Parts: sequence; C-alpha cells; structure tokens
Amino acid sequence: MKHIAVIGAGPAGCLAAYELKKNGHSVVLFEKERQVGGRTFTDRKNDHLIDTGAGFFTNFYPLYFKLLKELKLTDEVIPMSRSVFFAFDNKNEVLGTLASFIFFKALSFKDKFKFFKYVSGLIFKFKSLDLVDIKKLSHYDDCSFADEVRRNAGHNVYEFLARPLIEPFWFFSPEEISRALGMTVLARLATSKIFTMKTGMDRLCQALANTVIKKTNTCVEKILVNPDQSFTLTYTDNGQITNSEPFTHLIIASTAPVAYNLVKPLSENLISSFQKDFLKTQKYVSSSHSVYQISRANPPLNQSGVFPCGPGQHKVATISFDQVKYKSYSHLKKTDDIAHVFLSPVESLKTMTKKSEEIFASTWENARGLYSQLPNSPLPVATYFREHAIPLHEVGRYKKALLFSHQQKAPLVFAGDYLATATIEGALLSGLNAAKLILQEN
Ligand SMILES: Cc1cc2nc3c(=O)[nH]c(=O)nc-3n(C[C@H](O)[C@H](O)[C@H](O)COP(=O)(O)OP(=O)(O)OC[C@H]3O[C@@H](n4cnc5c(N)ncnc54)[C@H](O)[C@@H]3O)c2cc1C
Repeated sequence: MKHIAVIGAGPAGCLAAYELKKNGHSVVLFEKERQVGGRTFTDRKNDHLIDTGAGFFTNFYPLYFKLLKELKLTDEVIPMSRSVFFAFDNKNEVLGTLASFIFFKALSFKDKFKFFKYVSGLIFKFKSLDLVDIKKLSHYDDCSFADEVRRNAGHNVYEFLARPLIEPFWFFSPEEISRALGMTVLARLATSKIFTMKTGMDRLCQALANTVIKKTNTCVEKILVNPDQSFTLTYTDNGQITNSEPFTHLIIASTAPVAYNLVKPLSENLISSFQKDFLKTQKYVSSSHSVYQISRANPPLNQSGVFPCGPGQHKVATISFDQVKYKSYSHLKKTDDIAHVFLSPVESLKTMTKKSEEIFASTWENARGLYSQLPNSPLPVATYFREHAIPLHEVGRYKKALLFSHQQKAPLVFAGDYLATATIEGALLSGLNAAKLILQEN
C-alpha cells in the first residue's frame, strides 16, 4: 500500500485523492483553506449561498456527470437559462436562442451568415475538438482565437460574438489565447446546456474529499526528499504549529506558482528542468468578484446575466444574477436578488490595494456603466479577490502542457487546470490522470 499526500483540495486534488483511496491506498489530502473546493468554493454566509469561483458546468463535462452519479449527487443538478443580455453602446439585447440570434441587431445579416458558415465548419471537426483533452487541443494550438475568428468570420463577429463567448467566462481576451479553446467552445455552442448545483458548486469536492483523511487549514510549506526517495512534508497547522510527515508518493494539485515554489529545490530525477520552467512561466489572470443584494423589482430580471460586447476595453467581465440561476430553488426572498459582478483582469488588479467599501462602490459604478437598469443603492454582501484566478492558455501552451504530461512520472506528479483547460472538468481530468500515473507505477 502506498502512502500518498495530495496537496490542494480543489477539484483536481479531491478527485486524485478519491481515486487513490478507492484503489486501496492510504491518502492524506492537504488544504490550506478552512474548507475544500479551491476555486469552486461556495461561501455560506449570512443565509447567502455564494459560489465564489465556478458557478456552472455544462453538458460537455462527461467526467463531472459520471462522478455526480457515482457519488449520488444527481439530485443536486439544476438547469440554468442560457439567455443573457449582450450589452453594447448603452443598449442591451437578449441572446441565447436561435430566434434571438436571428433578430440580434448588433450584427448585419451578412455577418450572421459568415458566423453561421464558420461555426458549421467547426461542427464537422466536432470529434477532433475537446475542451479538456490536451492532445486534441494541441492540434489547433497555432494561432490566437482572435486571429482565427477575424480571418474566418470578420471583425464584427469577433467583437460581438467571439469576445462575449470567452471574456465573461474566463476573463482573458481571445487575443491572448490559443484558437484551440475558442474553436471548441464555438463547436459546442448550438448543443450546449448549462447547469448548477442546488446547494453550492463545492458539493462535488466535499463528497470526494469526505472519502479520505483531510487536513484543512493546513498549508504545505516544504517538500524534503529522503535518501530512499520518499518525501517528508513540512506544513503549518492553523497557521502556527509546524509538523512533518513522511509519504511514499506525492501529488501537487495547486496552481502552477505554488507548485513551482514547492518543487524549485528538487533535483532533475524527480522533475525535469522543462517541467520546472513550465510551472514558473504559467501566467494567470486575476479576478475581483463583488456580490450585492438588490431589489428584484428593479430591474425586472429574467436573464441570468449581462455580457459586455463590442470594441474597446470592458471594465466588467460579466454580471450574473442568482434568482434566475436557481429559479424555484432560490434561497432568496422573491423580492430580492443577488448580483455578482466580476471585473476584467485589468480592473481587478486595481482593486488589490483598495478597501472593501471602495471596491463595492467602484465596482457597482462600473456595473451600472454596463447595465444602467441596475438599482442605485445595492446592499454589499461580500467581495473576493484571486490573483491567480485563471491560467492563461496562450498560443503554444497546450503543446507544452502535452509535453509536460508526457514527462510526468511517479512518485511526484502534478495536477491542476493549467494542465488541461481552466474548467472544473479540466481540473478533474488532470486529477484523474495524476492518480492513474501513481496507480500504474510498478
Ligand atoms: C471566478 C472564477 C469563476 C469560474 N467559473 C467557472 C465555471 O463557471 N465553470 C467551470 O467549469 N470552471 C470555472 N472556473 C474555473 C475552475 O474553478 C477551476 O478551473 C478549477 O477550480 C481548478 O481546480 P484545481 O483543482 O486545478 O485548482 P483549485 O480549485 O485552485 O484548487 C487548488 C487548491 O490548492 C490549495 N493550496 C494551494 N497551496 C496550498 C498549499 N501550500 N498547501 C495546501 N493547499 C494548498 C488551494 O487553497 C486550493 O484549494 C472559474 C474560476 C474562477 C476563479
């Protein structure tokens, strides 16, 4: 029996720990926060249910659905509306159905035809486009998504349809990322369905982590390699006491910068210089997320969110509303709603040094700049900032991630969304692959 430490209880670490335990090994899951979930953590605060990171999953997350079934969580799944307001030039239009696309005023008939033709072409490539399979993604990892769309469907389609399908979800710009990701999203657009979890997006991580020994509020600070190639982890409990414990195997399921700091001193026989460099150079975009309670009567909302579109920098990446998200399952009074405002990466960084009152005020001002029907004085509920929110899938990065994955070997293995695509599904797949490498070791 192997004695395995998993560092990080986000989706990647929780699934890796669960798989190893299921296969008869002894596992300890370390998490620096008070609770598991990572970037899927749900804050249950003052009767509110706030998904602080991931807020939904889709019908093209097969691994996620398989796990929900295995863990008897399918009753938790609730469908979400695909309809959102697309906001531009102080106007907004509903988009989400074929009919709304036909009547979408931001694009001419000619532009819509170009978009339709381009997306139809992608549907033929459906099988070769996968959101989280880096082998398939690598095949198209040769230019930016912005260049791809402009070349195939023109500038207007890029500004009014391609950007709003990327920036509100991942915050980064299509200029910065590989076309492989955007093409996959577009190929699945027509058949995509969106879901959320009734009692919070961290329910899956909780269920996975409940099967293993977990040490929350425990930050792994250092990895020592023993002469017999086993590992001793040094960690702080509750931010104070320092403990250490030996393990035969190790999975690091944190973000890349944390992983790099932990493995920096380790030798080439455990981690190659290419892998170290990959971890060191992984870029992230930041996210500032502010949450407000608002009156539902103002505005009368029936769309699940607001996406900015059109040329220029957008200060707000997206606004989403809980009342529509949860519909009949909502924990809110019928007269209230919760508005989540996510700022763009550039604006998010500006909030880093601000006090929370200032963040609430300036974020709401920006939100009203995008969608003027929002009420004047909302009740601030909470604000969250993540410096390393989303890994940037730059052009060439999927190819490098594939090479990184080929070099992975027990007893030290890495998992995390930066090794696939920044989604829960990508993180889960990376966790499963990491566990397999340890299970398959002779
Ligand atoms: C604002 C936002 C919205 C998102 N929306 C969606 C969405 O709607 N749908 C979707 O599919 N995806 C979404 N994502 C992406 C998704 O949340 C991530 O891709 C996924 O959570 C990554 O999982 P992970 O396990 O790789 O990392 P994480 O979830 O970040 O988990 C890593 C864990 O490691 C812990 N850790 C770090 N250092 C240490 C240490 N030294 N010792 C112990 N523990 C440590 C961290 O505290 C964390 O819990 C969103 C992300 C953000 C930030």
